[in-house]
Amino acid sequence: MLNKILKDAVTVAIGGHIRPDGDCVGSCMGLYQYIKDNYKDKRADVYLEEIPDAYRCLKGTEEIRHEIPKDTEYDLFICLDCGDKDRLGFSVPLFERAKQTYCIDHHISNEGFAGDSYIVPDASSTSELIYDLMDEECISLDTATALYLGIVHDTGVFQYSCAAPSTFRAAAKLLEKGVDAPKLIQDTYYEKTYAQNQILGRTLLESILFMDKACIASYITKKTMDFYGVDVKDLDGIVSQLRTTKGVEVAIFMYELETNVYKVSLRSKERVDVSRIAKYFGGGGHKKAAGLTMRGTYYDVLNNLSEQIELQL
Ligand code: 5GP
Ligand code: MN
Repeated sequence: MLNKILKDAVTVAIGGHIRPDGDCVGSCMGLYQYIKDNYKDKRADVYLEEIPDAYRCLKGTEEIRHEIPKDTEYDLFICLDCGDKDRLGFSVPLFERAKQTYCIDHHISNEGFAGDSYIVPDASSTSELIYDLMDEECISLDTATALYLGIVHDTGVFQYSCAAPSTFRAAAKLLEKGVDAPKLIQDTYYEKTYAQNQILGRTLLESILFMDKACIASYITKKTMDFYGVDVKDLDGIVSQLRTTKGVEVAIFMYELETNVYKVSLRSKERVDVSRIAKYFGGGGHKKAAGLTMRGTYYDVLNNLSEQIELQL
């Protein structure tokens, strides 16, 4: 229960992973709003990198802090949806300075780096976990909207195998709070800018099939991103689209962080545990969705990944 987690804290920092996604933003904003609504004697602040524009519809996102204050020490740092400490990014020093730390997460690769943690690898999303820890009666429409968004994004709109009966029950309870689900899903999940669709199209066009068509891969260089006027926040959903390809077991999408350094996203359908592959190369994630950073040319990276994928096929 959140009461217990928050018991000894007056000041609370909430942080999530770098390049925040829907579940990260949803769980952080949901918890932030919940504390504001129900614990008038406590003070909470959210620390996240710049969030995708579409998520700005959530209450309180304009209050998100992108830099840490010097010498400030929080009673409690709660990290959400973050599988390892480094993935907190700029807020790591704040985490280290906090009197207590608590991690709520659903990454199978999470080894429990915080003082205390609540990690459920089978959970659909951190947002569902946060919902479980909340007192039903104390959830406002704004909190419900944030958590609903998080669940929607990490389940691919209730489509992935991580969406369990408990996920639908949580979603139903959140809907009862008045969440405008069709609008939220359309505006934050399906709607793409023209440039986002262009970069998606380009990536699909240039994708290659290999390993007897069991794998599909594609990548984007910095130069291409500049050409279309997009940044990394515009690339969400590309790897999922690659995975929809009939017959494919693993989808690989990479974008260039700097020369010969790639951020890699992995998705699988049935047989391959991509979290193991990601972890092998220093990343992490879930069985069917994981990520990592790798050095080398596109083809070096692809070769190294292929060796590991082959071991599981
Ligand atoms: P994505 O491919 O969408 O960036 O990430 C897929 C999943 O893997 C997410 O749950 C994300 O948090 C996790 N993930 C992505 N990149 C990394 C990484 O470099 N390290 C770790 N530990 N997890 C990652
Ligand atoms: Mn998540």
